Amino acid sequence: MRAVPGGLAGRLLLVAVGCLAAMSAAAIELPRQRSVPGGVALVDLGAAPEPPRASFGETPVLVVGSATRWTAVVGVPLDARPGTGHLVVQRAAMAGTDVSFAIAPVRYAEQRLRVAPGQVDLSAADLARWERERAHLAEVVATRTDAVPSTLRLLQPVPGRRSSSFGLTRSFNGQRRSPHGGMDIAAPTGTPVVAAAAGRVIDTGDYFFNGRTVWLDHGRGLLTMYCHLSSIAVQPGDSLAAGQLLGTVGATGRATGAHLHWSVLLNRAAVDPALFLAPTAAQPPVQPRRRAS
Ligand code: ZN
Repeated sequence: MRAVPGGLAGRLLLVAVGCLAAMSAAAIELPRQRSVPGGVALVDLGAAPEPPRASFGETPVLVVGSATRWTAVVGVPLDARPGTGHLVVQRAAMAGTDVSFAIAPVRYAEQRLRVAPGQVDLSAADLARWERERAHLAEVVATRTDAVPSTLRLLQPVPGRRSSSFGLTRSFNGQRRSPHGGMDIAAPTGTPVVAAAAGRVIDTGDYFFNGRTVWLDHGRGLLTMYCHLSSIAVQPGDSLAAGQLLGTVGATGRATGAHLHWSVLLNRAAVDPALFLAPTAAQPPVQPRRRAS
């Protein structure tokens, strides 16, 4: 039979333990789960005194929780194949174990867009520029720092109509291109854009497709990207609070009109930002318009 703590000291201990458990449970709010390509899988890793380490492919994934329950928050890449996903999980000094999870199929709509011909059939100079930018962006995407994100519930960075454009397979002037890895929010040029959560600025620049762009690192592979800005108000190295100004809405780069393109990345995978936002009954997602990119 287990010993039951008695007396006032025992009751206080139970209360204290209960409070700690409640605090740790409330410490971080998880995104909504949608285990599909472009979604987020929440994989239960069980109890352990120390946080287990988990990786998906070669990439470490975010693990949150407490000794009573750890959860891997896995970004499922848009090009992942539906079926069974596998995490390699390392607990303390034990050998890595395989933890599998289901990836359901999803069908994203198609979107046809018209842009200036030079933004689809690139000149040699633009192509060379894009190759350089792509290499640089791959380094930015690989950023991973040790601090645990302060929250996984993000702020919408700009007020406005959210399009449900994440994952759309798109063609520009009839040519098929990679799927849309973010959320487009329509707003007039000059509207302030704020940090979706506390984070550090890891990159700013003016890129061929993304236009003026800010990248934030929130820790452990959670990154956010803000594109097509008309102005940038921050510099690499700046630490921002949630809701702090980082720039203004514009139409720089390959964009058909003023809007914010906002991406959320987990373990280097672009995932649907809507999963990190509080659902707003007053503002249901609307069908995408001919607005990119
Ligand atoms: Zn976009």
